[in-house]
Amino acid sequence: MNDHPRIPLAGVLGHPIAHSRSPILHGYWLRRYGLKGHYIPIDVAPLDLAEVVRTLPRMGFVGVNVTIPHKEAILQIADIVTDRAALIGAANTLIFRADGKIHADNTDGIGFMANLRQHAPQWQPAAGPAAILGAGGACRAVIAALLEAGVPQIHLANRTRPRAEALRADFGPKVVVFDWTQASGMMEDCATVVNTTSLGMTGKTDLTINLDAINPGALVTDLVYTPLKTAFLTQAEARGCTIVDGLGMLLHQAVPGFERWFGQKPEVDEATRQAVLSA
Ligand code: NAP
Repeated sequence: MNDHPRIPLAGVLGHPIAHSRSPILHGYWLRRYGLKGHYIPIDVAPLDLAEVVRTLPRMGFVGVNVTIPHKEAILQIADIVTDRAALIGAANTLIFRADGKIHADNTDGIGFMANLRQHAPQWQPAAGPAAILGAGGACRAVIAALLEAGVPQIHLANRTRPRAEALRADFGPKVVVFDWTQASGMMEDCATVVNTTSLGMTGKTDLTINLDAINPGALVTDLVYTPLKTAFLTQAEARGCTIVDGLGMLLHQAVPGFERWFGQKPEVDEATRQAVLSA
């Protein structure tokens, strides 16, 4: 019989995983709050996912984040899936409960909203439609969050139109699909504009889009955070728009997991940003 309290372990499961900034972020918070615990990157091939996830609690893990390519597959393995994770069709945060059940949630939408609230406190989601570029996995969390926040309509354009149509089918008639070639025009009168494509990421081509129709009063944000200020954000800023980069979404989506696993709600502030940027 071992009476020593276990040091909580957490981590992030992905494939590959070396690029993940989550270990830097959680490690920074653990040191900052003087907490006992460890957070490690774990490379898991898709075929091994179920076995690894079932084994982790027996090794002292209290939960994990899940990233590409496991965010959808994990829903089939979890015992309890939150409504928002089910709606989004993906989970990024697992809690290994004391009763042995695996609880799966999606906190990307929380992160997305908290980032905008923090960096654009004057922004009013209900002030007008939102224009969204892209229709991939991250876009589903953004749509769910914006609709919940009271955005009256979503103008959605994706290079592969059927993916956007599928989102309309899932989220209902407030989502209006535009052709990718109409992406510029659909921004007119929108209070919010979001890039959810991977265009603009370091190593990819920039998102080049004509912003003549954009409302200078719009809030413009990009999910891409490497580089921090994408060409798209630079272009929007030149039009007078308020811009918010994507790093805050990454930081804020990590808060619920960290709080649950290590018992302390961590702060997302400039020191946190710098810790992640300078690592
Ligand atoms: P995904 O499921 O692979 O979707 C990629 C999206 O980008 C699709 O809409 C795709 O369009 C579009 N796209 C890719 N190449 C394109 C091109 N050449 N021209 C036009 N559209 C193109 O990826 P995801 O998980 O949604 O992630 C999207 C981006 O968000 C990534 O850069 C990711 O790093 C970032 N992200 C950031 C956070 C954060 O915390 N800030 C969180 C999640 C994701 P098609 O459907 O036509 O392929």
